[in-house]
Amino acid sequence: MNPSEYLSSYGVSRTAIREKLLSILSREDQALSSKEIEEKLGEDIDRVTLYRSIRLFEDKNIIHKIVIDDQTIKYKLINPKKGSTHPHFHCVECDKVLCLPETPLPQCNLPEGFSAKTQNTIVEGTCQKCNH
Ligand SMILES: [Zn+2]
Ligand SMILES: [Zn+2]
Repeated sequence: MNPSEYLSSYGVSRTAIREKLLSILSREDQALSSKEIEEKLGEDIDRVTLYRSIRLFEDKNIIHKIVIDDQTIKYKLINPKKGSTHPHFHCVECDKVLCLPETPLPQCNLPEGFSAKTQNTIVEGTCQKCNH
C-alpha cells in the first residue's frame, strides 16, 4: 500500500507532510519522539503543521503514543494486527523505546466500583547496544 492509499484507508486526506511523517514512522523499528521526527524531516517544516499531523494520526489510530515520563513521549505506527495494548521497553541509557510482543497483561484487583480502561506497561533497562 502506498502512503496515500494507507492514509485514505484511515480516512485521512493526503498532504506532503502527512506522507513524509508516515514514511518516517514506517521505516523505524523504534518509536520516535516528536523531536526525533522533526530532525528526520529536516528542511524547514512547519512545526505547528507537524504537531497537528501527529495529533491527527493519533486520533485516527494510525500511531500510538508511548509516555515514559514528561520528558520522553514517543510515537509508533500501530500494526493493525497487533493493536496498541502491548508492553514497551525503555532503554534508560539511550532513551530508545520499542514495542514488545503482546503478552497477557497482569490482572489488577480494582477497588469496588472502579473500572479499568487501559493499562500501560513500561519495562525499563538497557538495550543490546548499551549493554556492550
Ligand atoms: Zn540503549
Ligand atoms: Zn507500541
